[in-house]
Amino acid sequence: MSISNYFDEDELVSVLTTHPLNKLLDYFAPKGGCQLGAFVEVPLGKRSVLGVIWEKGKGDLDSLKIKKVIRVLDINPMRGELRKFLVSAAKYTLTPPSAMLRSATRVSNLLEPLPTQKFYRLSDCNPKPLTEARSRVLKVMQQQGGNLRILKDIEKQAKVSASVIKGLVKLGALAEEEHRVDQPFSDLDLSKPGKLLTEDQQTAVQDLCEKIRNGDCGTTLLQGVTGSGKTEVYLEAIAEVVKMKRQVLVLLPEIALAGEFLNRVNARFGVFPAEWHSGMTLTERRRIWHMVSEEKAQLVVGARSALFLPFKNLGLIIVDEEHDSSYKQEEGIFYNARDMSVLRATIACGHVILCSATPSLETWVNAKSTKYRKLILTKRFGDAELPSISAIDMRKEECKPQKWISPSLRTRITDRLNASEQTLLFVNRRGYAPVTLCRACGQQVGCLHCDARLVEHRLLNRLQCHQCGFSIPIPTSCSVCGAEGKLVSIGPGVERLAEEAKEYFPEASIVVLSSDMYNSIHELKAKISAISRGDADIIVGTQLVAKGHNFSKLTLVGVIDSDLSLQGSDLRAAERTFQLMRQVVGRAGRADKLGEAVLQTYQPDHPVIRAILSGDDEAFWAAEIAERKAAGMPPFGRLASIILSGSDQNVVNGIANSLAQNSKPLDHIDAQVFGPAPAPIARIRGRYRVRLLVKAKKKVTFQSALSRWIAMVKLKGDVRLNVDIDPQSFM
Ligand code: ADP
Ligand code: ZN
Repeated sequence: MSISNYFDEDELVSVLTTHPLNKLLDYFAPKGGCQLGAFVEVPLGKRSVLGVIWEKGKGDLDSLKIKKVIRVLDINPMRGELRKFLVSAAKYTLTPPSAMLRSATRVSNLLEPLPTQKFYRLSDCNPKPLTEARSRVLKVMQQQGGNLRILKDIEKQAKVSASVIKGLVKLGALAEEEHRVDQPFSDLDLSKPGKLLTEDQQTAVQDLCEKIRNGDCGTTLLQGVTGSGKTEVYLEAIAEVVKMKRQVLVLLPEIALAGEFLNRVNARFGVFPAEWHSGMTLTERRRIWHMVSEEKAQLVVGARSALFLPFKNLGLIIVDEEHDSSYKQEEGIFYNARDMSVLRATIACGHVILCSATPSLETWVNAKSTKYRKLILTKRFGDAELPSISAIDMRKEECKPQKWISPSLRTRITDRLNASEQTLLFVNRRGYAPVTLCRACGQQVGCLHCDARLVEHRLLNRLQCHQCGFSIPIPTSCSVCGAEGKLVSIGPGVERLAEEAKEYFPEASIVVLSSDMYNSIHELKAKISAISRGDADIIVGTQLVAKGHNFSKLTLVGVIDSDLSLQGSDLRAAERTFQLMRQVVGRAGRADKLGEAVLQTYQPDHPVIRAILSGDDEAFWAAEIAERKAAGMPPFGRLASIILSGSDQNVVNGIANSLAQNSKPLDHIDAQVFGPAPAPIARIRGRYRVRLLVKAKKKVTFQSALSRWIAMVKLKGDVRLNVDIDPQSFM
């Protein structure tokens, strides 16, 4: 007999494993029974794999073939909320549930026992004789307020050898205990006061806290110009949720660079939050995963994959810079962490706060339609004012060939240098030059494995493929025609722009800020904080600098090529440019000095450039929305990309064509299929890529029709098929 959440020994259970099988498997419950959601080890063929008790067994298999669960792992069972989220997310993104489970268990092998180690604690017996070394140890232990310490830390802090500590154990002055290596994260100190808030901020905080206290779930767009104090507002929402004994997840786009944010958390709550991103060690990941599941981590700051952590009681998800394109994952599982946050919070009965100065069009529309609530901060905090924005019409400027800093911009930089203020020159291209061309035969140097040009990185002395990482030393002769000394660099990257700036301003200290310029995140972080202390006159940077850093001496932003991201047929080109420019421009004048932003452009009359200059956001969004509506494009219609790739071009094309020709399962939703067409980057890592685009009306059962359609194709050889629902990029 079983109560619904528990299965007795030998009852049938259905298990979802991390093994890529697209179905649940039946097993008999193990000795001692098991709970719904329990993490288990199950036999599969000759191996044993990790799984989760997903539901009651179906019994549709011959019972002689059914095996027994090997054991239940000593981990909190996966909660119904997370199971439901994984299933819903799998359905939405057309991803196999087993892949979703792998995302939710991306931590050192859960089948292995949790490691333990020796910890030390002060006991009340006084050691005799009390040598100087011994008393140093006791002092260090006392300072810790009775917390457990490991040997290494005590050794280091008390400057003693292990034998001193062991001696104290023998004398009974220290107790030695075996505990799990992974220790809880300290609780936030809620007794510390927050900042004195402005009226705007206070209104927003009150509104949010009231919703939180009432246990309302739902999504709030917190919109406000850069520097208006959105972070201050959501720190108070965090305090409220933690007070209610629930957990909080903050998603940030460039988490590895979030040093400033971590410091602000520490200043507000007296502790640093748990950090979850690709830069963490396996040990750190294991600690966070388990502590989150045991409710011993109240606040996690993470990259998009933190959405899959096993929170025990998730009450709030904050998505900062919600419009940022890095929230969209485009390999493995294709998903948008912003949308999945809303899904997860809905299931967990939690709240979502989406923050941005320039929300994505989807969010903007949702806030307009009252699906999301909207709170607005209208002014920058304190005396900081928004920078004035103007355009430099490049058609009227005298720039030498292969030079990009216009005379007008140079004049303004000179003014800033004279005032000891900083300038940011923004160009969204890493490296020295995007193209290397042979002047003898006209050939551009391309990647061997991709349909992409190699980017010159002069500091590394290499040409590099930004798609696959392939690189070669910078050649001196053309590999096609053999001409010597005829290769030239075309176009600007950050390195080249810095070189140009050096020519005009030889005395200035110039720093390049680009994600590939530093050997480690640590080095990059150090550079950023040096700059924010004023250690540079001119910063040349990619969009890395557009993200949330506060450089208080920065008063001039020059956007070198404002037209760059307007090119291309991308549905979101205008929106992206608008957001990026606004973000970059928002870097200027964040403290007490007025900032100025100038956009170099050859199209000063382009509607997007005009919208940025005029500051009339509403008008820009209204025009964008009208255009998308007319075209039936998201969020007013549905889109999905199908990407087929494989090493044999003919096989890939064959499958793509047969998909396009057999689109009957899509008929009843009235979908249009475009393509197949070679992807804009038609080859990556030696794999040919072909795309199909499916477009449908908004209110249809899009995913189920798509999955029936895709199920008809038989993949041959190494061909892979990826579905990208709500695609953001069309490369
Ligand atoms: P946003 O997240 O909207 O860009 P921030 O929260 O980072 O804005 O605020 C910008 C700057 O103003 C930060 O240095 C922040 O500490 C400061 N600030 C904002 N609101 C307040 C306040 N009420 N009291 C003191 N400082 C504030
Ligand atoms: Zn390549």
